[in-house]
Amino acid sequence: MSEAKKSGKNKYCYYSPAISQQTKERARIEQRLYQATERGNFSIHYQPIVDSMNLKIQSYEALIRWRDEELGNIPPDKFIQIAEENGLIMRIGSWIITNVCFQIYQWRKAGYKDFRVGINLSALQVNDADIVKEIEASVKHYDIPFDSIYVELTESSVIKGDEKVLTNLRKLREIGVQVALDDFGTGYSSLGYLRTLPIDILKIDRAFIKDLHEGNNSIILSAVVTMAHALHLKVVVEGIEEHEQLNYLPQENSVLIQGYLFSPPKPADEAILLLKGQQEVEEKMVGRHD
Ligand code: C2E
Ligand code: CA
Ligand code: CA
Repeated sequence: MSEAKKSGKNKYCYYSPAISQQTKERARIEQRLYQATERGNFSIHYQPIVDSMNLKIQSYEALIRWRDEELGNIPPDKFIQIAEENGLIMRIGSWIITNVCFQIYQWRKAGYKDFRVGINLSALQVNDADIVKEIEASVKHYDIPFDSIYVELTESSVIKGDEKVLTNLRKLREIGVQVALDDFGTGYSSLGYLRTLPIDILKIDRAFIKDLHEGNNSIILSAVVTMAHALHLKVVVEGIEEHEQLNYLPQENSVLIQGYLFSPPKPADEAILLLKGQQEVEEKMVGRHD
């Protein structure tokens, strides 16, 4: 509008500052991302996934964090897609795999063992012939068990993926690395289709549980959980933020929950304190009964 006014009354012009601003922002992020990837300038936060019945930590999800000197904190939603488009995701993904394995090695050395850590994989990574070898090499290098990690892939990347994706997922499962289907409910796969996929865990997207108090949403959630359990899948309900949401979860079968209510993603040292706290309570309880 101001551009049109500048050129006099009753004039119009085509101008979209929003679009050019977005393009500029993207270019800037991309430029900085090359440098960050070169230097491995990322960190990883870990978010616990707990059993809804007893709130015991079952696993942690590894989530990448990027704090750029000039741009500040850039959330993954703003750069993962760019990294997928320009191919940097392969190197960023490798950095994540190595560093998660190293973290597990350190935690195990400190005595923290009974949980898995989930690594988010992009479809491009799983489409790569070497992904299984890469994961295998990293796990062996740090001398950690294969079942101390699992991988998370979005519903859409598994569905869109070709046979190679499915073959690689099968190979990962053969060596003991479980597979989770992430963001279930945002794509188009039916529960019937899930039966054919090489997966162990179903992660139900937070969009699915946002309005549990409304209409039949909680009934639908219960049905999905029941059917997933019938297919021998573990179920994680994502995005639990409020205590009230727990009331709408199916009670008969235990589901796993992840969300800000229990804990947001935290740096490794802080995330493990939650597990340490739980173990200390357990030890005290055992001691009391001796
Ligand atoms: P995601 O895999 O679905 O991860 C869960 C996202 O939900 C995380 O966002 C987490 O911080 C957020 N979250 C957890 N609990 C709650 C809650 O109670 N409420 C709300 N509103 N959000 C919650 P984050 O870390 O910003 O990651 C966003 C997405 O970026 C991830 O979604 C994943 O698709 C991608 N991503 C993150 N780290 C990696 C990575 O290392 N590799 C790849 N390929 N993608 C990653
Ligand atoms: Ca995930
Ligand atoms: Ca998710």
